[in-house]
Amino acid sequence: MFQAKSYATQSATTPLKPFVIERRDPKLNDVVIEIDFCGVCHSDIHTARSEWGPTAYPCVPGHEIVGRVVRVGKKVTKFKVGDLAGVGCLVDSCGKCENCKNHEEQFCSVPVFTYNSVELDGVTPTLGAYSSHITVKDKYVLKIKKGLDLKRVAPLLCAGITTYSPLKKYKVKKGSKVGVVGLGGLGHMAVKIAKAMGAEVTVFSTSPNKEKDAKKLGAKNFIMTKNADNFLPYVGKLDLIIDTVSAQHDFTPYMSTLKLDCTHVLLGAAPEPNQISAMALIFGRKKLTGSLIGGIKETQEMLDFCAKKKVLSDIELISASQINEAYERTIKGDVKYRFVVDSKTL
Ligand code: NAP
Ligand code: ZN
Ligand code: ZN
Repeated sequence: MFQAKSYATQSATTPLKPFVIERRDPKLNDVVIEIDFCGVCHSDIHTARSEWGPTAYPCVPGHEIVGRVVRVGKKVTKFKVGDLAGVGCLVDSCGKCENCKNHEEQFCSVPVFTYNSVELDGVTPTLGAYSSHITVKDKYVLKIKKGLDLKRVAPLLCAGITTYSPLKKYKVKKGSKVGVVGLGGLGHMAVKIAKAMGAEVTVFSTSPNKEKDAKKLGAKNFIMTKNADNFLPYVGKLDLIIDTVSAQHDFTPYMSTLKLDCTHVLLGAAPEPNQISAMALIFGRKKLTGSLIGGIKETQEMLDFCAKKKVLSDIELISASQINEAYERTIKGDVKYRFVVDSKTL
């Protein structure tokens, strides 16, 4: 074992503070990464504050990781010391079940998430990447192309893959009409990636001050959702909705903008349950579904797609001591459009 610096929270109600953690020395297939940058996802906040049920403390959040390989296990051939490396929300899975075999490890029956999860040994808690180093099995480590602005790559490891996966699954292509609900970390990546796939993008937002940015990010239309009349011109117009809202909201007005048989995909994981009228689904045979990050193979495909299309996240770089303030600002929707922790400041 070796020691690593981190920022951790000890309970649902206390701020994150500096904390020393232990990382494992590399086993045969492990890679040790010195982390350069880690994005701040709203899932970090839900987890740090036990909003999705009791979290195991101490909790070190962080799953949008970019860094450099500093040690490798004896059997590792995919990486060598000095290589760039990325890690997202998933650090292990059984590798044997149907979903693992189909490259959808996120739906493994025993997935090991980057933090607030338990390793396959059944006892070791996982700790995330508001941290100087992380040790991960090579299969779950992604290749990052050289020459990119790494702090802007980090958010692709969660916000990027989470939005890319449903856009791909629902076959977004040139001319598709895609609605994106909520312009935050995930939302701004959904706009950029959908646009890069050729779609015409409509942003639904509660924040009038984001209209100019939405257009700059690639959206054609911007709908201020606080006024119900603003939905009317878009009724029956969209092929797909990507919903990234982090809090409870009524899906009905958004679903009215879908064409016949089209789908509203929930990515935002509001802690509170929701109600929906059957009528919202019955008329127009609409579908309401969810999507969870993406598999490892698809994450590599997304990174390569984003490198080719020059799609990176718009970020605000912060030092580790600003994480608590960044949480408050994220909750208020005051982020353009992802906070990224500079790991040197840990
Ligand atoms: P974020 O940066 O905070 O963005 C969420 C956006 O939702 C806000 O910027 C705001 O956009 C909108 N919003 C917030 N509260 C709202 C409310 N009460 N009503 C309507 N709109 C509201 O968060 P994020 O990091 O993108 O994450 C979004 C959600 O996705 C979180 O719940 C997170 O846990 C979840 N998530 C899921 C997955 C997955 O695999 N499914 C992966 C990552 C994250 P406007 O200002 O434009 O309204
Ligand atoms: Zn995330
Ligand atoms: Zn499995």
